[in-house]
Amino acid sequence: MELNEKLRILGDAAKYDAACTSSGTDRKGSRGSMGSAHASGICHSFAGDGRCISLLKVLLSNACAYDCAYCVNRRSNDVPRASFTPRELADLTMQFYRRNYIEGLFLSSGVIGTPDNTCEKMIAVLRILREEYRFRGYIHAKAIPGADPILIRHLGLLADRMSVNIEMPSSASLTRLAPNKTKKAILAPMDYMSQRIEENSRDLVRYRHAPKFAPAGQSTQMIIGASPETDYHILKLSEGLYRRYGLKRVFFSAYVPVVPHPLLPGADTPPPLWREHRLYQADWLLRFYGFDADELLDEEHAALHPYLDPKCHWALRHSGLFPLEVNRASHEELLRVPGIGAKSAWRILQARRACPLSWDALEKIGVVMKRAQYFLLCRGKRKPGLETRRNTLLAAMMSERERKRYLLESGEVQQLSLFEQETATFLSARRELESLPLPL
Ligand code: SF4
Repeated sequence: MELNEKLRILGDAAKYDAACTSSGTDRKGSRGSMGSAHASGICHSFAGDGRCISLLKVLLSNACAYDCAYCVNRRSNDVPRASFTPRELADLTMQFYRRNYIEGLFLSSGVIGTPDNTCEKMIAVLRILREEYRFRGYIHAKAIPGADPILIRHLGLLADRMSVNIEMPSSASLTRLAPNKTKKAILAPMDYMSQRIEENSRDLVRYRHAPKFAPAGQSTQMIIGASPETDYHILKLSEGLYRRYGLKRVFFSAYVPVVPHPLLPGADTPPPLWREHRLYQADWLLRFYGFDADELLDEEHAALHPYLDPKCHWALRHSGLFPLEVNRASHEELLRVPGIGAKSAWRILQARRACPLSWDALEKIGVVMKRAQYFLLCRGKRKPGLETRRNTLLAAMMSERERKRYLLESGEVQQLSLFEQETATFLSARRELESLPLPL
């Protein structure tokens, strides 16, 4: 098989892995313009310093021995199969790198016979790149659940970031949908990598030239909407993974019904993209804003709100805590105010050392006043002319897209006809919105 054809098949087969964000564009170059984007294989990821980097995102092989129901590459699915040899893939990476198409590699694979065999082949690719070509670009490698820890260690010494996909948010769903995988086989490499990363950071303090093990840490991905777990369950799980294994990121991937399966949502079910988006927002609050999963949701309110982002929803549910005097509030309190981000909270603390802040100063600092004005006092006073109608406040809490779901006109909340067929989650969220206490 031609190398191009292999690249097309294996780049396409890798696109459902969200653990490295994919551009998914396909654009030809044209006269008078520069560059082109091809669907197979180039994706974007973000470095620790916020830089966007392009990665070649491919599978080593999609000839997988496993039969995970949600996966397009599963053994029982009738799709074209292809495998790179380690040499082919290493050479391809170098060619792309030399032409400046990519800055690194995101390497995953279906299970080629056994996890150990797959891992050995992945190591062979990285060895050629690192040892023969002296390639110093970024490499993200997927650990294969069930592989020998010694092989995981070799892989981690060659890659910058490692990840092992948890796939399903509960072991019951994993057993049902991925019969060849077990919770233990997934968590064991995660645990092993977390220990090695910790051990390595200690070694590096003592010996500056100690070999680095996955210096960019580890991440994971789980599929949303293929199984019945609630947002609350997913957030609790993510929180546990961050705390226990020190993960850098948990990626959420809305389930796309690519191949029909009796255990999965039907082919016409739209991917739950709004839910995926809300989970990322809530995840951000867990990682950078000091929230716990139990504060955002509970067993009774187990779904994230479709119309309000998790921080606005939390603030409206805790209206009694507001308004806060911006010149006295602690850092933790400021971080919980809608419209105040991590940067603006820090700037407020710095600026108010010099003198008490005014509303104008807050605006200059970068506070999103549209939202924050409802939750703050400045020098003991509300913002002059604050509009206190419920619908105006709710509109300020919503993004453009969220507002489209909820039509706000002449102070009246009206339902869009589109929502006549909405699910129970949407309907109860609408009812809740109309009865939420306001911080006024
Ligand atoms: S192990 Fe499962 S998820 Fe991974 S490629 Fe094979 S079938 Fe797909």
